[in-house]
Amino acid sequence: MNIPLLDLNAQLDPVRDEVKAAVNEVIDSTRYIMGPKVTELEEKIAAYCGARFGVGVTSGTDALLLSLMALDVGHGDLVLTTPYSFFATAGVIARLGAVPVFVDIDPDTYNIDPGLLEAWFKENKSRIAKVKAIIPVHLYGQCADMDAILAIAGEYGIPVIEDAAQAIGSTYPSAGGKKRAGSMGTTGCFSFFPSKNLGCMGDGGMVTTNDKPLYDKMVKLRNHGAAPKYYHAMIGGNFRLDPMQAAVLLVKLPRLDSWHRGRQANAAWYDSHFTLDAIKTPVIAYSREDHIYNQYIISLPEKREELRQHLAANNVGHEVYYPVPFHQQECFAYLGYKTGDFPHSEYAAEHTLALPIYPELTDEMKGYVVEKLEEFYR
Ligand SMILES: *Cc1c(COP(=O)(O)O)cnc(C)c1O
Repeated sequence: MNIPLLDLNAQLDPVRDEVKAAVNEVIDSTRYIMGPKVTELEEKIAAYCGARFGVGVTSGTDALLLSLMALDVGHGDLVLTTPYSFFATAGVIARLGAVPVFVDIDPDTYNIDPGLLEAWFKENKSRIAKVKAIIPVHLYGQCADMDAILAIAGEYGIPVIEDAAQAIGSTYPSAGGKKRAGSMGTTGCFSFFPSKNLGCMGDGGMVTTNDKPLYDKMVKLRNHGAAPKYYHAMIGGNFRLDPMQAAVLLVKLPRLDSWHRGRQANAAWYDSHFTLDAIKTPVIAYSREDHIYNQYIISLPEKREELRQHLAANNVGHEVYYPVPFHQQECFAYLGYKTGDFPHSEYAAEHTLALPIYPELTDEMKGYVVEKLEEFYR
């Protein structure tokens, strides 16, 4: 057997003709910049997430960058976030001349720990005035503890940018009822990178918000800050979503919930079929239905590299997300952190592994993954 980490052909097969027809429609329309497909997708993604507005952008990275730009984050400002995420989360902060400030994760969920966030505010009173945003990441498809994070942010009047790149459709059981990722913060940032649960055929992203003035500002900043055309009261960039990608996404969006259910069923299957204590399966913070399992992450006490060789030799796809926490990245050496500063992130970087979880996996395939993994530890 050969089981890839992700099989995009399996996802494409049932929609291939529809996707091609939708892309052809854009080609024949000659509307290659913005246009009706982008507007329709913005409205549908916003509605899907339970947010008022959507701004289609070039990527998840640019969704984060645009959010920070719209909040006027700039030189010398501080932005609090997790040390353990995809690079973009911290990269966008530094690109604007702001300073990423890291707060360690909860070792069970891998999401920023609100207790440590609160402790940061208690211990850094003199720096609080410089904090311009907090970016929690809903890592692997499970929401960070938003009630706690929003309470802390609210106390200091700091906006929260949800990095929901891995969490479209993920839900959070807040005290006020179930909420979807991207509807709780000041903005929500989504990526349509092909490996996300809702992926396009290139790069794409979306910002969601409930804030009308901020929405209007992001719409301008997405197009060089122009309003009207060729008149610039502010400096933006070209962050426009490609309408061909919007067309692809409009075909896929109605299938998204059934894909989530497929991933949840696969996760439940793995959870009940791994038998060895050595393999720690993902911790469900809320309920299984709240987690969209963009990744299924196990934690291993030892020998991860040897295991990876064993899995590779047996054609079991896997990946490490992510091998180096931000505070240990070469490009962030200037921030002055050292190894040991964020032990939970460091542990996760050294001990976790992503396994195939895509919805089209059969029980036979999952059984093979479990067998090869447990065979190694036996
Ligand atoms: C994928 C991802 C991004 C960036 O999205 P792109 O579309 O690749 O730019 C940002 N944050 C997280 C957590 C991601 O997983």
